[in-house]
Order: sequence, then structure tokens, then C-alpha cells
Amino acid sequence: MKINFTILITATLLVLNSLTGLSQNDRTNFCDHDHELYERVKTDPEFKREIDSVEAVQNSAIANYISNNSANRAGTIYYIPIVYHILHEGGSENISDAQVKSDLDDLNDIFRKRNANVGNVIPQFRGISADIEIEFRFAQKKNDGSCFSGITRTFNSSAANTGGNTAADAVKATHGDFPGNKYLNIYIVKSFGTSGAAGYTFRPGPPYQADMRNGIHVLNTYVGNIGTSTQQGFNTTIAHEAGHWFNLPHTWGNSNNPGLASNCNGDDGVADTPNTIGWTSCSLFGTSCGSLDNVENVMEYSYCSKMFTEGQKTRMRSALLSGVGGRNNLISAANQAATGVFSDIICKADIYTENTTVCQGNQVQYYDNSYHNATSWNWSFPGGTPSSSNIENPVVVYNNPGRHTVNLTVSNASGTKSVAKQRYIRVVSSWGASVPFSEGFETSEFQFEDNWENTSGDTSYWKLSNSSASGSKSAMLNNFNIINGATSELGSRTYNLSGMSSANLSFKYAYAQKSTTSGEVVQLLVSSDCGENWVIARGINQNTGSTDSEFFPTNWSNISYNINNSYFSANFRFKIRIVSGGGNNFFIDDINISSTVGVEETNFLSSATIYPNPMISNASLSLDLIKQSEVSVNLINALGQTVSVLSARKTLNEGNTTFEIQKNQLSKGVYFIQINVNGNMSMKKLIIN
Ligand SMILES: [Zn+2]
Repeated sequence: MKINFTILITATLLVLNSLTGLSQNDRTNFCDHDHELYERVKTDPEFKREIDSVEAVQNSAIANYISNNSANRAGTIYYIPIVYHILHEGGSENISDAQVKSDLDDLNDIFRKRNANVGNVIPQFRGISADIEIEFRFAQKKNDGSCFSGITRTFNSSAANTGGNTAADAVKATHGDFPGNKYLNIYIVKSFGTSGAAGYTFRPGPPYQADMRNGIHVLNTYVGNIGTSTQQGFNTTIAHEAGHWFNLPHTWGNSNNPGLASNCNGDDGVADTPNTIGWTSCSLFGTSCGSLDNVENVMEYSYCSKMFTEGQKTRMRSALLSGVGGRNNLISAANQAATGVFSDIICKADIYTENTTVCQGNQVQYYDNSYHNATSWNWSFPGGTPSSSNIENPVVVYNNPGRHTVNLTVSNASGTKSVAKQRYIRVVSSWGASVPFSEGFETSEFQFEDNWENTSGDTSYWKLSNSSASGSKSAMLNNFNIINGATSELGSRTYNLSGMSSANLSFKYAYAQKSTTSGEVVQLLVSSDCGENWVIARGINQNTGSTDSEFFPTNWSNISYNINNSYFSANFRFKIRIVSGGGNNFFIDDINISSTVGVEETNFLSSATIYPNPMISNASLSLDLIKQSEVSVNLINALGQTVSVLSARKTLNEGNTTFEIQKNQLSKGVYFIQINVNGNMSMKKLIIN
């Protein structure tokens, strides 16, 4: 409550702040960066004078704001262009757009007093809980004027594990400049190295101003309320840091240490926040300095934050109207136009889905990933059900295996954009191929697209190689030339391991790094549900010495992996995942899946006959079953592509069943009838003349 500018100035720090890593942890963690500036204020009189003069300017801005009748200023919403920069090394810290959006929602909710729990603030403070009338919007334009989504991603292990200047510099090198007086930059990292901080930022003032290092630095586990966030449901971490960024100290004053008795002598320069020692737990009725504390304030460490006060609103809005730290430039008309805060221009149509490979009959959740602010959507899904949609994020089911194209046209008042993702979704058979299975990458008909999935979408990544462990070919990831951070996967089709008593996956590989410090990630992953969920089975290391020149194998190593029985499903899949990190080529060959059949023999197909064969216009396929079975029949071409579904999966009785095969538009050539009986695959050659 007490306003004491002398104490405030003496204890001034421009750099704050950290939250405890865990809510139950009463130890407050510091950011090393804060520590440095604390020390600098103590030992550098010139720097301290600079800071003191900045503080004086801020205080007069607050006085002006109040004397100019702050009530008149209420009702004006200030819009802050915000950019979330994700620094990652290919793991879960590379959080989803949805997690970022949940963060922006929470941030805006608390700043606009729209958070669902604001009504739960204890009655003594409910009346001064304020709508700050500041909103944050994704910036829609970069500093060079080009459109972007408001989220950037930078693969950089060092920056992802350091944060601070290293993070800002890495983003700048990859995505260009985002001046700190034009954007509120949020840097999301995996860790701050040895610091235990959850987040920290800079109050307005020197040293950064227009430098893009002026921003908020935060762990990915404190962003948003879903995904990797430890703050599920509602999160005020960035709101707390944004409070500092708008010149708010902690409620107990200018220190990072809550809970100290001496904090009763400190002050936060805000008239309506009671003096407090500061809380690291949610003691709603704490009276640490003799009066009731505002424990639910965002600028506490109480982990039950729900509100800012009217006094904090005045202080934050004063900071935003002041030139200190360049804050007032953010809300200038010129900057709002330059960053595209209000221009809902459709720059790009784009589609997002978590899995581009799904099992036959499974759902695909599509998301509109266009920017910015589409108001209508026109999707088409050839081969899907439904085959079109006008909703933002539709769900589609595919009943036929193969590759399927997705089209999206988005529009708003500003215009229309379209995207066509050719062969974007790969639908694999819900009945896996029977085992034993082997792949030597030898046949000339070998097609990555149908037998194997190259998730990079770039056919120059995974390709056939003339190196081989046996025979004359192998599959190769052309990793020598792939940029750092790119993820390339070679995903298998489905295999039927149901009813097995044991199963083994083996393959030969050859792989070298460029140097022993290459930050490559090479992994084998397995799935029991057609690729809906993946588990890392093991990592793969280089099997030879590092080399600077492009690597081709001279010796091969064998990996033999016993598949756990929890993966004995009809939809077993595996994949090799490589996250490039300045490494070298990877080769795989001689893949084998072997198994021991369990107690029940499930192949009840007695015979399958095609007549006439060769056929001219039509033929009959006759199946003879020993027992009632689940059967599907497909006509596939010489490339392994399904050209016709003769019978979708259904139950057939014991005895004889006949299917008609029509030539229709099929060209002459060699085909195969693929007969699946209880998951066991049989092939019959069919020649069409
Ligand atoms: Zn803080």
C-alpha cells in the first residue's frame, strides 16, 4: 500500500524475474541474467544513474496518467503484436500451435478480466479486480512486411537449452529481426541451462529497447494449458511476465525473493496492492504485513493467480504510453499497420493434421492452418467420407487404402486462397501383411509411396541406393544434404502380429556422423495401432567412424529387436525417425519380421481360383473357406497399388463364394488379387488382355 519511491529506486532492477519451477517448491529460483544486472547496479554507478533516471521518467508518466484522469483513458483497448518463438531440438519442447493458442487465450482472458475463475476471487479484492484493456494479437507480418503465422520455430539445441540472448540471436538468424519495440517476443525453450527459472523478462528501460532480445523468456512447460504445460486448465505465467514487461514489480516489491520478513519494507509502487512478504502457496487469507494480502494477484508466486488490480492497470497502461523501453511504439498506428494487427488479410491457405498416415476406417482430424483469420472454408476430400466440408476443422474417414489428396479454399472479406495437398493422406490396410515379411529393396517395382512412407514429403530425402548389405539395393536417407532440424521418417505398412507368441524385427544399417558432436537423433519407433500412437523402441548409433565427406557404407551392422507382446496386434507398424543434426547418410537393408505363431491357426482359405485367366472383359474369383472367416479382396497392380476393392472386409461362411472381376477401365497387364482371410494375405496373379 505504502508508496515509497526512494526504496523503489534503490531496489530498482530492470530485469526480472523468475517463477519457482514447481508450485510446491518454496525455493525461489533466479535467472542468472537477473543476477548479473543486480550486480551491475551495485557496482556500476553510471548504470545505476541511468536506471534511476529511467525510473523517474516512468514515475512521472504514472503521475501524468493519473492527473490526466485515467477514467477517460479507460475504454481504449491497446493491441499488442505478439510473436511466439519456439526453440527446440526435435522433442516435445517443439510444442503445438494449439498449445501456443491456448496460451494466448489465457493471456487475453486475464488481461481482459474474462477468466472463468475471476468470480472466485475472495470478496475483499473482487471489487478492484481490473480489466486492463490490453489485448495481445498474433503479429501477422514480419519486420520485412511478409506474412507469417505469428509463431516461429527454430531448431537449435544450444538455444533451446540456454534461452536468453542465445535464443533471440538464433531466431534472428533463422527468421529475421523482430525489434523489441515493434513486437512482444515470447521465447519458448526446453531449459535455461542451470537456472531453475520458469520464465523471466525485462522491465522497460535499457539495455534492449528495439533489440529483439527485449522479450519474455519461458520454459515450454509453462506455456498454455495443454500439451507439455504443467499448468493444465489455466495458466498465468506469461501474464505474470507481461506484467513485468509493462513495468509491474512483484506485489512485495523489487526482489525475486518472496516470503522474506524484510519485504514488508519494500513496495511495488502500486497503491491498491497491500504490503506483503509475497507468497509461494495459495494462502487466501494471509496477512503477512499486518493486513490482508492479495494472494490471488498475478504478480504473486501463489499459483492461484486470478486478477490484476486497478492500480496495476494504471501502472501498466502508463508504461505502454511511455517511450521508456520503446513500449509506446508498439501501439502506434504505424506499428499496428506494419505488424498487421488489424489486417485480416488471407496470406496463405494451409492444412494441418497430426498423422498423415492412418488405418483404413480411422478418422482424420483436419485443422485449418491458414493465416490469417479465415471466415469460410471449402474442403474437399476425394476418397473420404464426407467428401467435402464447410467447417473449420473437419473430421474425415477413409475406407479405402491408398493415397488421397486434400483441397482447401479459405476466404474472408479480404480475399481467397487455396491449397491442394496431393496424395497427402496415406491410408494403410487395417489388416496387416502376414509375417514372416522381408524387404531387401530389390524389386524394380519397389515404390516408397505405397509400401513405405517418406514423411518428409521430399522424394530426394529417402531413396533407393546402389549400396547394399545384400543384393544390389538398399534404402537411403540422403542426410548429408538435409538441413539441421528436419525430421525424416521411413514408415512401414501394417503387419499382422495377432495371435503370435513371439515376434522379432531385424534389419541391417550403416550410418556415420559428420563429426562425433553431430546432434543427430536416430530412432526406431513401434506402434500397435496402425500409427495412431508411437513409442520409441531404441536409439541407433553410428556403426563406423565419423567422416566429413559424404558417407557410403563399407560395413553394415545388424539390429535385432524382439517385439514386445503388447504389440501383437493386426496393425503393427514401425518406422525409422531421423532428426538431422549436421550428420551424414543413413542406409537400411534386409528388413525381416519373423514370428512364432500362437495357439490358433487362423488361415481357413482352402483354395482360390480365377477363371478365365488371362481374362478379357470379366472373370470369376472363387474362394473356398474351411470355416467362417473375415475376408477382404482387393485388385492391385504391379506397383502394389490398390486399383479396385472387390470386397470390403466382411464375414463369409464356410464353403464357396464367388466374386466377379470386371475389366472396366483397367489397362492390359499383370495384376494381383490380394485375398485377406482373418489377416492372412494370399496373392493370385491375374493377367488382363
Ligand atoms: Zn516475477
